Order: sequence, then C-alpha cells, then structure tokens
Amino acid sequence: MPAPAAYIYAEAVGTLSESGRSVAQRRRLEVTGVVQGVGFRPFVYGLARAQELGGFVCNDARGVVIEAEGASEKLDAFAAALIEQAPPLARIAALETSEIEPRGEREFAIRQSAHGGERTALIPADIATCDDCLRELFDPSDRRYRYPFVNCTNCGPRFTIIRAVPYDRANTSMASFELCDECRREYEDPGNRRFHAEPTCCPNCGPRLSRPLEDVVSLLRDGKIVAIKGLGGYHLACDAANEPAVARLRERKGREEKPLAVMTLQPDRLVELESDEDALLYSAERPIVLARRRADAPIAASVAPGNEWLGVMLPYTPLHHLLCADFAGALVMTSGNLSDEPIAFEDEEAEHRLGAVADAFLSHDRPIERRCEDSVVRAAFPIRRSRGYAPAALPLPVSALAPLLATGAELKSTFCVVRGDQAFLSPHLGDLDTELAYHAFNTDLELYLQMLGVAPELLACDLHPDYLSSKWARGRELELVEVQHHHAHAAACLAENGETGPALALVLDGTGYGTDGTIWGGELLRFDLTGFERVSHLEPVPLPGGEAAVREPWRIAAAYLEWAGRPVPFPEWSRVRESLKVNAPLSAGAGRLFDAAAALVGVRERISYEGQAAIELEQLAGHVEAEPYVCREEDGHIVGADLIAAAHDDLAAGRDRSEIAAAFHEGVALAFAEACERAGEPRTIVLSGGCFQNLRLLASTRQRLEENGFRVLVHRLLPPNDACISFGQAAIATYSVTPCA
Ligand code: ZN
Ligand code: ZN
Ligand code: FE
Repeated sequence: MPAPAAYIYAEAVGTLSESGRSVAQRRRLEVTGVVQGVGFRPFVYGLARAQELGGFVCNDARGVVIEAEGASEKLDAFAAALIEQAPPLARIAALETSEIEPRGEREFAIRQSAHGGERTALIPADIATCDDCLRELFDPSDRRYRYPFVNCTNCGPRFTIIRAVPYDRANTSMASFELCDECRREYEDPGNRRFHAEPTCCPNCGPRLSRPLEDVVSLLRDGKIVAIKGLGGYHLACDAANEPAVARLRERKGREEKPLAVMTLQPDRLVELESDEDALLYSAERPIVLARRRADAPIAASVAPGNEWLGVMLPYTPLHHLLCADFAGALVMTSGNLSDEPIAFEDEEAEHRLGAVADAFLSHDRPIERRCEDSVVRAAFPIRRSRGYAPAALPLPVSALAPLLATGAELKSTFCVVRGDQAFLSPHLGDLDTELAYHAFNTDLELYLQMLGVAPELLACDLHPDYLSSKWARGRELELVEVQHHHAHAAACLAENGETGPALALVLDGTGYGTDGTIWGGELLRFDLTGFERVSHLEPVPLPGGEAAVREPWRIAAAYLEWAGRPVPFPEWSRVRESLKVNAPLSAGAGRLFDAAAALVGVRERISYEGQAAIELEQLAGHVEAEPYVCREEDGHIVGADLIAAAHDDLAAGRDRSEIAAAFHEGVALAFAEACERAGEPRTIVLSGGCFQNLRLLASTRQRLEENGFRVLVHRLLPPNDACISFGQAAIATYSVTPCA
C-alpha cells in the first residue's frame, strides 16, 4: 500500500524546513491519482494566486506537475491546501515534493501538457451533468439553452472520449471541434467554471444532433423504438408505459423476459427507495439502481415481467435531460444490442446491428472512443460495474513487480490490468461466447492497454479449457498463471477487502471448471492468494443433456428427485432420462440446486435469462419465516438432494409454496454454515459467487456465520458474479510474482 498522501507530504516538508531559509524558495510538486479531468489545474492556479506564488502547473503522463516559487510559509500553506481543499472529483494518491533552484518567477501560469515519460495518469470516469450545467440547459437566456452537449470542469464525458493520456482536448474525440471565441475565453479564464474544461463547447462550435429532438420525442410518443447515441454506446429507447412498444422492443431485440432498465426524472413514482438506494441513484456515477417496484408504477407489464425489482436511473447527460423533460414520462433505456451481445458504440456498427430493431436513430457527431455500458447496482453491491466507475483504479493488497493482465471468465466478462498496486477493471463486456463478443474483447483490450500505456509482461486466465478468454491468453507468448474459477472468486472478495488471507471461502456459483475436470460451484475452500484446498462441496448431480439442463431447470429437478428416490412429476422425463447415459456432465454448482428447487415448486421449468429461476424462487420466499430443511454432509459432500426431497415431500403434503421456498433458502444457508463450522479455521470467511446476489441467501448465510463467531467479508465494490473473476485472477497473479509474498 502506498503511504497516504498527507504522510508523504509531511515527510517532504519536514526535510525541507530544516534548511531553515525563509527567502523565496522553489518547489516541484508531483501529484498522482485522479487529478486530470476533474478541474485540478484551475484549482491549483487559484491556490497559487491566493498565496502569491510564481511558477506553473501542467498535466503530464503521470498526473499533475507543479513548480511553485515564493516564501516558504506560503509554499507550506499552498501544499496543505492542495490536499485539504482538492476538488470533489479528485483522488490524490500521492504528492511528492522536492526543492529546486529558484528562478525569480512572480507570475503563475497553466502550461501546456508535458509529453513523453511513462503514462500512468489515472483516467477519470464519465460524470453526470452537474447542477450548474443543468441550470444553463434550461435557462432561455443562456447561450447554451437546450444545448445537448453542455458540460464543464465538474461534469461531462471523460473515459468514453479519451484516446490517450495526458487528458487534453487534443487527445479526446473533441479534438476536431475548434473552440469558438466565446468558448475559448471561458476556457482560458481562470475564474471561469470552464477553465480548461477539455470537452467544453457550445451550439456554435460543438457537436450536433443528427435530427431535431422534437422529432424523436414525437416518435417515442407514437410508440416507436429509437436508437439513441449515449455516452458509452447506443441505447434502445421506447415509452415505458406503452405495452405494445415494449413488447415489440423485446421481440426485435431477442430478449424475452430479462428486465429492462427505465430512465426517469421521477423515480419515486416507479420504485420504493430506501435511503441508500436514493443516494446511489443521485450519485455522480448515476448507475441503474435495482429497487422495489411500486405496485402502482405506471409502466408496461413487460418492462420487468414477474419481477418485484425494477432497474431505474436518472438522466445523466444533457441530451437525456432534454429527452426526459420533453417526453415527460418514463423511458425504457436498454443497451443497444441483441440479447447478451456487447453494446454497439460506433455509428456505422450501430446502424448495421440495430437497424432491424430501431424505427429511427438519434445520433450526433462526437465519436465515442470506447464502449461503456450503464452500471447496475443494488444498495449492497454492484451487479455490473461500468459507466461512472470504470476505469477508476481498485487498490490491490500487494504491488505487482511487472504489469499484468487478467482475462477473466466467460459470462459477464471483464478483464483487469494491473500496474503497481492498482487494478484497472474493464467495463462490462457481455458474454464472451459469440464471435462478436470475442471481437469486442480484442478491440476493447487493445484500446484499454493503449490508454493506460501498459504492455503486460504476465497473464492470468481461467483454468477452463474452452473459455475464449483463456484461449486468448494461452495464445500469447507470455508467462501465464491459470487460476481455478472459484479460487478467483474467493481471491476477488478477499483482495477487494484489502486482505491476503488465509481465510475460508464459501463460493456459491453457477458453473466453474474444477481442478479435477468436473464442474464445481458449491464450494467451501480454505485459501490464500497463493493456493487453496477444497474443504467441502455440494454433492455433484448429473445434468441431463448438459447445457440444455441449464436452460431447462426441470431436468435438474428430475435428476435430483430420482436420486432422492422420489417420483418425478415431469412428463418429458422418460424421454430425457436416456440422455443420462450419453450427455450428463456432473455439476456441483449451487446455482443448479436453486434451479432444481425452483422447477420443483413450480416457479419455472424453463428460463430465458441466466439466474431467472433463482430470482423468482427468492421472490417466492420473500420474508416468509420457515425452519430450515436439513441436509446431510457425508465425507465433505453436502447432500443437496436432501433439500429437494424435503421440498418434494412438503409439496406433496400440500404445504404453502412460499414456505417451501423459504425453508429451502434457510436449508442451503444452514448446510453451508455447518460445513464452515466443521472446517473451523481460519475464522475469517469470504462470500462470493453469483448465488450471493440472492439477498435472502446472503443475509441468512452471513447471520448464521456471524452467530458462530466468524468474521465475514462480502463484496461491496465488485459484483459477486463472474465480473469479479478478472480482479481475483489479477490478485493471485500479482501475489505469485511478488517476492515478499
Ligand atoms: Zn457541469
Ligand atoms: Zn463555442
Ligand atoms: Fe463464477
């Protein structure tokens, strides 16, 4: 871990003041962290002027460099204020100070960026439109009245328009828009909010929409689907209250039932917001927040069929603000793609891919430099960490000796680049199982490495023989660390909490390739960042028909029931049963156990999106209280079939289905908590894996473990699902090449 900035500062100044001079001194201050694109230089300029210092400030490839000259006590005050009063969006990682030869400079200036050197400056994430810009947007007397690209030092596009560091207009997709005289005056005026706001522009000099906004609003009112160019890609938009429009969007997009996100200025009309959800919704990151849907929410049924939760977001660009204000209703705003493909972000590509889905396009002439989808969060943890968060660095508990790249898993794919002790997790890439997604993986990776100025010397990937991300890594001629999937889950949660273990890990997941070549996913591990031991796991069941069983949970329910010696109620079973002889890989995935229970209690026999059966089973259980079903553990195998048998018997006895779902949830939590208790040591345990997106399972497991005296670590910064895998791989690979490990 680097020393906190304030500590480095105190040390540096302490040494300097020993020189005992009080005449004019000159100091060079190098500031690193998120200090570009957040109004840092104008802030420095203001401070320097207030202390009557001479010198300059400029961006360089590592951050911001300042040379300041004046009386030593003024220099001290200046340096202290740098840290204490830094702009709200700035994150100072370190401030290094050295004394240099005075030059007799009296004036302070903002200089052109210094080029060259190593590129380590942190790139700021995109920031939602600020209140000052919003006021201008809706002020008829302002020269930017209703201008869809208004922004300033405190808000606007960043990550998605940056081509290279340092962050200067010339290195962004605004380079081709020459500032008009008025904008230039603001840009050069240290007292102006747009002083060195790199993407600043106005109706005279900036980007333009491809068509009038009122056309788009009337198309939306008519129930049409419009592809709208956003910050990190295209959205598909339609009237969220118009059932035929939403149904048509689903049909054309090839998305049957997976919930669609809604953009609105009045979230309270759609969802019940807890205070932490409200805070996230209005944060500068402006993610999609999953909140409890109101029974009287004025939206079409097919926005989120069968789901008590609704993903809502506020407008976050000036264009969105204008759209929402003019349309005066909630809009479905879903990623511009087909099913789980990567989001389209280049204009031609979007026209090609979305032409058959959208009735019309709303584009503009400011290019998007890189793909970045909307982030999706719950109050407790993110589900998709993308726009607004990427590419903010996550600290690792150890520092890498050489730059490295971890290529992640396959579903909800991300990759992770490590430089020193900082991990840069990519935005969400989608499911890496199509040609298109693999192509996106390659392009996005190249752009990302270029932006960060990193050439990896070490790679990490999943152990899986067939993941495209693993094949990619194996195809390079670099040293490679292959990481078991659930070890990566465990490491991600541990490292995210700043620890290196040893610890226990409960990883309840869908699917992951085990070291024995079978499918794992209901795992209790004892581990640290160098290795693991599989202490206990769910007894594997055959998946009749392999992948087909994942799409048709009734098949797994049937396999469990047969195993437990119970009658199988599904008529197709006699036919499918034959596949047990030819295609029935064994799976110890906890996700499959939830699928089986869901199919059994009649929630869902077939799914149209990943996790659907489990989500609906969780909703059925709600907050209903029930004694846990009991299941045996034999030789470290947790006999999940006992839970299915108990559910079957209760169902046959006519017990309430909600109670059965609740008893099943509690039974899973109890079985694994008992396994942890038997494992005994260490007393710290991490929880990871897609199943822990189930809030009831998470809360119950956590409570049982804490009652037994365990210290429980959970995900807060990263999704518990496979999006965290690349970070976990990165932590393990970093640790494996650090000599002090
Ligand atoms: Zn602003
Ligand atoms: Zn202008
Ligand atoms: Fe996983």
